[in-house]
Amino acid sequence: MPAVLDRLREAVGAAHVITEGDRSAWERDWRRRWHGLSLAVVRPGSTAEVATVVRTCAAAGVAIVPQGGNTGLVGGGVPDDSGTQVLLSMQRLNRIRSIDEANLTLTADAGCLLQALQQAAAQRGLLLPLSLAAEGSCTIGGNLATNAGGTQVLRWGNARELCLGLEVVTAQGEVWHGLSGLRKDNTGYDLRDLFIGSEGTLGIITAATLKLAPLPAATTTALAACTTLADCVALLTLARQRLGAGLTGFEVMGRLALDLVARHFTALPRPLPGAPWTVLLEQSDTEGEAAARERFEALLGTALEGGIVADAVVAQSLAQSQALWQLRESIPLAQAEEGLNIKHDISVPVSAIPGFVERADAALQARWPGVRLVNFGHLGDGNLHYNVQAPPGADGQRFLDDEEHAVNTVVFDEVARCGGSFSAEHGIGALKREELAARKSPVALQMMRAIKAALDPQGLMNPGRLL
Ligand code: FAD
Ligand code: ZN
Repeated sequence: MPAVLDRLREAVGAAHVITEGDRSAWERDWRRRWHGLSLAVVRPGSTAEVATVVRTCAAAGVAIVPQGGNTGLVGGGVPDDSGTQVLLSMQRLNRIRSIDEANLTLTADAGCLLQALQQAAAQRGLLLPLSLAAEGSCTIGGNLATNAGGTQVLRWGNARELCLGLEVVTAQGEVWHGLSGLRKDNTGYDLRDLFIGSEGTLGIITAATLKLAPLPAATTTALAACTTLADCVALLTLARQRLGAGLTGFEVMGRLALDLVARHFTALPRPLPGAPWTVLLEQSDTEGEAAARERFEALLGTALEGGIVADAVVAQSLAQSQALWQLRESIPLAQAEEGLNIKHDISVPVSAIPGFVERADAALQARWPGVRLVNFGHLGDGNLHYNVQAPPGADGQRFLDDEEHAVNTVVFDEVARCGGSFSAEHGIGALKREELAARKSPVALQMMRAIKAALDPQGLMNPGRLL
């Protein structure tokens, strides 16, 4: 092993091969569910250095775990506890390579923070329409490796739909120069789409070209209180009819989710207290704020008259809009404060959501009376974070250890009955590997294993994750 470390030091500089001291920032995941031990944390500073690191590890038979911002929620970016895997941190690859205003594209290193890219685009009057609560810490490479979703998918799609080209270091340590700003390129198998969502198991994404859009003249938000989830879905249909492509966000928050925010973030406002369901709507407009607000008011007026909505507020300023978003984005943090919980990141057709929640709630309450269902998410694209927290006063760790498998079975069986997915946007990682093996069709699994064997025959790219 030491010989490998010497060669890695030669490749990236001794200061960037970390083998001592506290490495928990890299070795422990955001949820604090996994804490591994790496052979070394290696921090290359360029694509060429990444390629040298991969070739060095391949020659020595050492496995590599790629990591961006370490905000992943499925245990895919931290090493196992063997002390034999190299943790390849992408944080030093953080250069924006170019912005092409006429082509509406941005090309950047994979280790750039998502927020830094959003800001760079905004400075040119452009929008990078990928947005998630972890944007201040996650990297674009991690976003593409997990095909991240977030809050604007209903309008702009997942990370996959925003990516035009990739630069990748293959498992053999070769560089695939697939950066491209083309919207049309039908020249065979789509290798780009193979690496997007591959969670570091096929190669290392070192750079990407992303689609941009003109920055809207105004972005406004509104909050609506609904009595049932069916009303929330009816509001979505109405909002789509009235706002068309201007509707860029449609998030739902269950009462319990907002109760947790109120308990753990006492300074945040709670504009519509007590509503069983609260919807956060976002509208992006080319005309300006006053016009957008007027459209929101007309839409919500119709919804109030029709009885779909019980109460509503329209943000009157950017600060108010931000405060509404902060409510939504504080839910995962409030849940973490409340204790460990069983997280689900599921999707079903939007039309099936009310029935899914009703049946899953009933089945869980029947088996675990008092269990708390902290339900929130991206209703506009059919993705719920349907999280299960132990009954009040119960030990969260114990509930997780003893009941996770049984709870998952109840939830995922119901998801399957609705034609949904047990992993909508967070990926598979270490957490849902067995679920994938059990629930994905055998034909699909066979093709996935064939791809893995063809691109990574030594099995050294993020082993034990995904497949
Ligand atoms: P990491 O956590 O470092 O890695 C994630 C996976 O990608 C790992 O398997 C890793 O090996 C691999 N990987 C990372 N970089 C590369 C690379 N350059 N090449 C190859 N493989 C790589 N996710 C959503 O989709 N939508 C949300 O709304 C959302 N909200 C979140 C809110 C909070 C508060 C938090 C903590 C997380 C949230 N997430 C969300 C999950 C997470 O932010 C995303 O999965 C994000 O895309 C991960 O990026 P990262 O840079 O942190 O990747
Ligand atoms: Zn989400």
